[in-house]
Amino acid sequence: TKHLLARVAAHQQLGAFLCTDEALALAQAQAADDRRAKGETGPLLGVPLAHKDIFVTTDFPSTAASKMLEGYRSPFDATVVAQLKAAGSVTLGKLNCDEFAMGGSNENSAYGPARNPWNVNRITGGSSGGSAAAVAARLIPAATGTDTGGSVRQPASLTGITGIKPTYGRCSRYGMIAFASSLDQAGPLARSAEDCALLLSAMSGFDPRDATSAERPVEDYAAAIRAPRAGATAAQPLKGLRIGLPKEFFGDGVAAGVTTAVRAALAEFEKLGATLVDVSLPRTELSIPVYYIIAPAEASSNLSRFDGVRYGHRAKDHGDLLDMYKKSRAEGFGPEVKRRIMIGTYVLSHGYYDAYYLQAQKLRRMIADDFQAAFAQCDLIAGPVSPTVARPLGSQTDPVQEYLADIFTLPGSLAGLPGMSVPAGFGEEGLPVGLQLIGNYWQEGQLLHAAHAFQ
Ligand code: GLN
Repeated sequence: TKHLLARVAAHQQLGAFLCTDEALALAQAQAADDRRAKGETGPLLGVPLAHKDIFVTTDFPSTAASKMLEGYRSPFDATVVAQLKAAGSVTLGKLNCDEFAMGGSNENSAYGPARNPWNVNRITGGSSGGSAAAVAARLIPAATGTDTGGSVRQPASLTGITGIKPTYGRCSRYGMIAFASSLDQAGPLARSAEDCALLLSAMSGFDPRDATSAERPVEDYAAAIRAPRAGATAAQPLKGLRIGLPKEFFGDGVAAGVTTAVRAALAEFEKLGATLVDVSLPRTELSIPVYYIIAPAEASSNLSRFDGVRYGHRAKDHGDLLDMYKKSRAEGFGPEVKRRIMIGTYVLSHGYYDAYYLQAQKLRRMIADDFQAAFAQCDLIAGPVSPTVARPLGSQTDPVQEYLADIFTLPGSLAGLPGMSVPAGFGEEGLPVGLQLIGNYWQEGQLLHAAHAFQ
């Protein structure tokens, strides 16, 4: 803990952390030592972690990287945070992200971007950019993130680390500041599938305070990755595993260096005994308009709670109550958050609801059905996470172009499927490339097993 606190302090220019608390971390490390001295064991006992600032915590401010929540302290811990605390982990601080998790570059943080440790003038990806930067720079061995449309997988991919978004409902959303409730899921970012497995087991489970959390027993994912596949051999640990390659994930629009790295990784999977099969996810392109209707619609509703009364920022000079709401929101929210509230309010409006929101919901179902048709032919689906490597900071000013880069992570999110990013090598400019693996519902164990065999 001391060593990593020093690393965190020495690498502040990465913008990974929004706050730290050295005294608290040292006290937690001591408490973990005491538990160990009493004979307690556990894979996370005494392990330093940090949490995306989307999770509310009693020990630190919780801001969602927004001015709106500057200095806000929660009276309770998010369930995921409480579970990791109970497992004996040490919390070094809270991690930067896009404001309210809206974005894919961490440039939407009200507190400045996180920087990619591979090249500090490049984005980390987002929205869990601080988590990715902190793990990639070896400031912490693992971090929590959240993934609504790719926010664990894409920053993991762009910083060369491993991240998994489990099946929707696997982790409790209680205390995760809501962006789009039907899509939001927690997930770990770490150096390896094995470390992700250790965190995910501790983060998962039914929570009576989240009605969408699943009443399913929690798997020991670390055991799952070690368990040999039926029919596998030592040389071919993935023998019999069918990996589906959607043709829509390998077309134009993917950078040559990304495709090359992904193909090379898939060739390794073949050597490990897996077979590659061609599949199709015909509505891949539609996942962009569908997601960018549904997610802002839910966001516009979720963010109505930030009214200057109950939480955070209240404008100083205001007239009547309505003026106070307006000024507080105008000052507290950044431009991307305002854009999403506008879009969401519009698509839910009388007269537009059927044309946009309802249509998007119908397509969401069809996208999920397409996955089931593909999974009839394969066990896992693979492709790129992001069409490009990390772009330069400040190089994208067109929000629609930015949204298009989410094309490979959105389909799985809309379907509620588990997905992960596994380092696949390097592409353009020598920057990291992630291989995406998507599993069927509740197949996190199989995903992690395959990733671990590859690593
Ligand atoms: N980039 C996507 C967006 O901007 C996904 C964000 C996320 O998963 N939180 O909405």
